[in-house]
Amino acid sequence: MELVFLGTGGGRINLLQQNRWTGGFRINGSMNIHVDPGPGALIRSLQIGQKPMNLDAIIVTHMHLDHCSDANVLIEAMSHYTLKKRGIIIGSKNSIQGDSEGNKVFTSFHLSKVQDIYSANWGEKKHFSNEKGEFEIEITKCKHEEETCFGFKLKMDNQTIGYTSDTESFPGLYEQYLGCEYLIINTMKPNKDKYVGHLTSNEAVDLLKITKPKMAILTHMGMKMLREGPEKEAAKIEKQSGIRTIPAKDGMVLKPDLEEQF
Ligand SMILES: [Zn+2]
Repeated sequence: MELVFLGTGGGRINLLQQNRWTGGFRINGSMNIHVDPGPGALIRSLQIGQKPMNLDAIIVTHMHLDHCSDANVLIEAMSHYTLKKRGIIIGSKNSIQGDSEGNKVFTSFHLSKVQDIYSANWGEKKHFSNEKGEFEIEITKCKHEEETCFGFKLKMDNQTIGYTSDTESFPGLYEQYLGCEYLIINTMKPNKDKYVGHLTSNEAVDLLKITKPKMAILTHMGMKMLREGPEKEAAKIEKQSGIRTIPAKDGMVLKPDLEEQF
């Protein structure tokens, strides 16, 4: 299995200036999964040799542009030029069914090209498989402006990957990620400010102290985080939590099975 980072930037400045990419990440294993395909998901995939045509699933954790803008484009690839009904969509309820104002991510045309569509429910576990392999996903709760936003724990090829997506801290958040070997944390900010809905470095420390994964990976970093220096922030988090912590880089390929390479 490998994790491939196609975007490590968070916030509108990164999104519009591409100081850091915003294409989400891929979990490649017996099945290939693209998570949170924001702007550049297609282009960055092609740029670093990730084949959008071999995707088996696309996960959209919430309906904010930096997590979903390229979702329909990737469906065109997953369904092999829309010629074949194939693949899995796992999306927040709002992204699939629409929010109170009728906005949604996926067009009905694109959803008609997908084999299996799942609107994520917090606390639910789902199993997916195809001719290539299988994975299990457990949906975790987030507290974010898009109120149906979710994170997950995903088991595939004997590894468990956790992903917080965008969330602020709330009672019970951290315990949801017990049992992850690798935990991907959207760490937007080094410290608290008025911009709610996101985790800070200090909260990442608390999360890691409770969940104790083998390794934490910081991503979705905002401009303040980037100015502070992601390496410095990761070292601080590692020191305070006792958990190995690395900042993701655009284009980084992490192979948990061969962890010592990193
Ligand atoms: Zn968001």
